[in-house]
Amino acid sequence: MTAIQTAKAPTAFDELGGSFRGELLLPTSPGYDTARRIWNGVIDRRPSCIARCSGVADVVEAVRYARDHDLDIAVRGGGHNVAGTAVCDYGIVIDLSAMRAVWVDPARRTAWVQGGALWGDVDRETQAHGLATTGGIVGHTGVAGLTLGGGIGFLMRKHGLTVDNLLAAEVVTADGSIVQASADEHPDLFWALRGGGGNFGVVTSFRFSLHPVGPTMMAGPVFWAADDTTDVLRFYRGFAAEAPDELGSVVRFGTVPPLPDVPEELHWRPAVAVACCYAGAVEDGERAVRPLRSFGTPLVDLLAPTPYATFQGGIDDTVLHGWHYYWKATSLAGLSDDAIAAIADHAYAAGSPRSYTAMFHMGGAVARVPRDATAYAGRDVAHNIVIDAVWLPDESDEHAAAETAWARRFLHALQPHGTDGVYVNFLDSDDDADRVREAYGDQIYRRLAEVKAKYDADNALHHNKNIHPG
Ligand SMILES: Cc1cc2nc3c(=O)[nH]c(=O)nc-3n(C[C@H](O)[C@H](O)[C@H](O)COP(=O)(O)OP(=O)(O)OC[C@H]3O[C@@H](n4cnc5c(N)ncnc54)[C@H](O)[C@@H]3O)c2cc1C
Repeated sequence: MTAIQTAKAPTAFDELGGSFRGELLLPTSPGYDTARRIWNGVIDRRPSCIARCSGVADVVEAVRYARDHDLDIAVRGGGHNVAGTAVCDYGIVIDLSAMRAVWVDPARRTAWVQGGALWGDVDRETQAHGLATTGGIVGHTGVAGLTLGGGIGFLMRKHGLTVDNLLAAEVVTADGSIVQASADEHPDLFWALRGGGGNFGVVTSFRFSLHPVGPTMMAGPVFWAADDTTDVLRFYRGFAAEAPDELGSVVRFGTVPPLPDVPEELHWRPAVAVACCYAGAVEDGERAVRPLRSFGTPLVDLLAPTPYATFQGGIDDTVLHGWHYYWKATSLAGLSDDAIAAIADHAYAAGSPRSYTAMFHMGGAVARVPRDATAYAGRDVAHNIVIDAVWLPDESDEHAAAETAWARRFLHALQPHGTDGVYVNFLDSDDDADRVREAYGDQIYRRLAEVKAKYDADNALHHNKNIHPG
């Protein structure tokens, strides 16, 4: 073998590799193909380098290197965003997936959470102290992307959005500086981070306030046959309107997933489910959900005293990594008879038994925060809806086209009943790009653009729900 054959070929990233402590994955590296994949299996991008950071200093190095070499930058937290903005072609992915630590301070009821953590990590560590904060409803969703877009989940009506619980963030800005953002330091940046997405820097850690939660909660879903949807929703309209702040609920339209506690004969049967989680004493929760459980003839009732962390991971296997996904989203001011009719007409017309729609009940503490306090815009929305078309990687292009067409048709049918605005974290890729301004409304968007101009005037961070500077 000649010297030339044995020498390691120099790469454009050797200079970065000299000081970088984490893993640099190039297209020739073992593990590159796994590292470039994210939750949505549709996304198939090939970055020139994945910089898997081991800490804040690595993030600084990667940002500075990318800027000096004019590289496109994508930032990966949990890798769950359906639009796939966590990965880019050709450029560099600043990958925080190795930074998942959670430090709980039980005396102060706060937690520091690193920028690559998942909600399952946070729920596990905080619940060890009987504490929690509002997170998403699937344990393998990333903390960073979810928080930066607002953060909705079962605890929000009692404890506010995830951003309402954000006390501070450590951020590596687009020029590679490390700044702390809080109500006292860089308050403009802190305002923008609470809803404005990944536009303003790479967040290396978040500090959240925590609340006593559980550990056992009255929680779980009740399922009815899809044919009962109109009646269930008419009942749910009143039930939700009168619900105490403690009662969080999400309605799911689709099929009965093959969960361990569900009798096998019900698996994949078209059904509407109302999943509840009561953020208070189990006995009070039992009382609060009684009318729901006794409505009509449920197919199966899984509401029971359940450990919060178990409940939060309960549907993780119904939305697996690598399946193919396409989303459409809207918000409703209320559940009118016409909106209910549109849901009943379209929700079950998908071809795949895995496709579903989720409707989050908002209000409570979310609605009591003034609209201009954070960049999250949808304070007055009654229900946030996400239509999730799902198909398997080996299913045909025709099947994929039929599922995505279903999601678009369903959105179209709901739009006359929608409010202004849409939850930014539920937007998909190309055909939703022009909805970013709609998500925020003109006033919040303009303020975000000013903050963007201050912290990232060159729009170096643009693989996101992009706010244009200035
Ligand atoms: C199965 C599933 C369930 C969900 N459930 C909920 C829910 O209950 N409630 C809810 O509110 N949302 C929910 N979502 C939506 C979720 O909030 C978004 O998908 C969010 O973007 C996921 O965050 P992530 O860190 O995994 O994203 P990634 O895909 O890793 O990143 C998305 C974008 O966020 C930004 N970003 C990520 N990490 C950082 C960082 N450290 N610093 C700066 N910017 C960063 C970047 O712009 C990046 O392009 C769900 C999504 C899925 C797939």
